[in-house]
Amino acid sequence: MINPGRQAQLLFSLICVLAITTVVAAKGAADSRTAASAPASNSLRELIPPKYQKRYEEWKTEFLATDIGKAQWEMYASHPRLVLTITIGGKNAEGAGTGGYKWNDKGELVAATIMLGERLDSGYPSAVYYPVMNALEPFESRQLIGGSVLAATKIAHEFGHVMKISSTSQELYNLQVKLVPTYNKIFLSNGYNVNDPRLGEIATKIGGNPVEIWEDREYWGEANAMLYLKDRVEKEKFHCRLFGKIKRAVEEYAKDYEQRFAEIAKEQGAMYTCGWK
Ligand SMILES: [Zn+2]
Repeated sequence: MINPGRQAQLLFSLICVLAITTVVAAKGAADSRTAASAPASNSLRELIPPKYQKRYEEWKTEFLATDIGKAQWEMYASHPRLVLTITIGGKNAEGAGTGGYKWNDKGELVAATIMLGERLDSGYPSAVYYPVMNALEPFESRQLIGGSVLAATKIAHEFGHVMKISSTSQELYNLQVKLVPTYNKIFLSNGYNVNDPRLGEIATKIGGNPVEIWEDREYWGEANAMLYLKDRVEKEKFHCRLFGKIKRAVEEYAKDYEQRFAEIAKEQGAMYTCGWK
């Protein structure tokens, strides 16, 4: 568990991040309408403005160079229900975001949009929530990996969000969207008291406090990013140095979620686990 002081601090920064994300998502919806590109398949639509086409192809090629990337791509390209749109734009130039979720009457996810930042191949998010993407930094500065690998890892992170949301009910997601702002409003007006019973009541309804919901989502993204990277760097000499760095960040910031990452490290077929038990 996070201690209350850190939780209050995280909540505060999270509220700011969420506000930015909402703006980016709204902007993303507008951009995708104006982007010009032919759909690649009926279920996986790539709406890439021509000026970004070249870099997008490089990132996509890097993602598809792994078995796991290819398998996930093909799954969405031939998906019977879900229309996944990938586009480039938004204010988060070095980041990415996933949203635009829609469900059908049966409660199945039928639409999602991944918005990639135009400089996806640069910028490393913090190790606190992004232990996998962050771990790549020293390897790029030593020119062991290129920017396209970073971009492809960020794409894998977003695919992780789509996969996770596919198994989240629409009801719970909508409730989270509705009640997280209420939670934050109470938190900001009660002297940052996380023990307020009103907050406890909301957290029970939505499956945790906003920080817990946020970190659970982000760590699912990171778990998929790790799955991709494992495939991508398996034959590289620095494989275990990279995975050791991820391990240390997970132990320091994501202890409650360690199992999720350990399972990937130990996944069947792995020749070695680089210290993960
Ligand atoms: Zn994410």
